[in-house]
Amino acid sequence: MADGAPHARCHCGAVTTGLAAYPDEVTECNCSLCRSYGIRWAYFNAGEVAIPADACTHTYAWNGQNVDFHRCANCGCMTHWLPRDSLRERRGVNANLMPPGPIAGCRVRKVDGASRGRPRT
Ligand SMILES: [Zn+2]
Repeated sequence: MADGAPHARCHCGAVTTGLAAYPDEVTECNCSLCRSYGIRWAYFNAGEVAIPADACTHTYAWNGQNVDFHRCANCGCMTHWLPRDSLRERRGVNANLMPPGPIAGCRVRKVDGASRGRPRT
């Protein structure tokens, strides 16, 4: 990945995900999982994110277990989620791991996942 290319990087750098572009919008969800992680998500289609094939992550699945939440095995940052159904295009990347400058002007979309008991995926 070229220097300065859009990316999300965990604290230690072991899981650095390339992005087609920085998002225009980030989502804050108030469900118990998103609140616990203190996360803001940016959503992408499969072709717009390059997650390193050798990324060493641990995963957590919850509720309907439709997606796996990945965190860096070294520094523990939640980095992204991936759908278990390989036909699903949508995936989420932790926007808090993107450089603050390029996403400073993003719209913030608030999602009431708490009332549904699950995160917005
Ligand atoms: Zn890390």
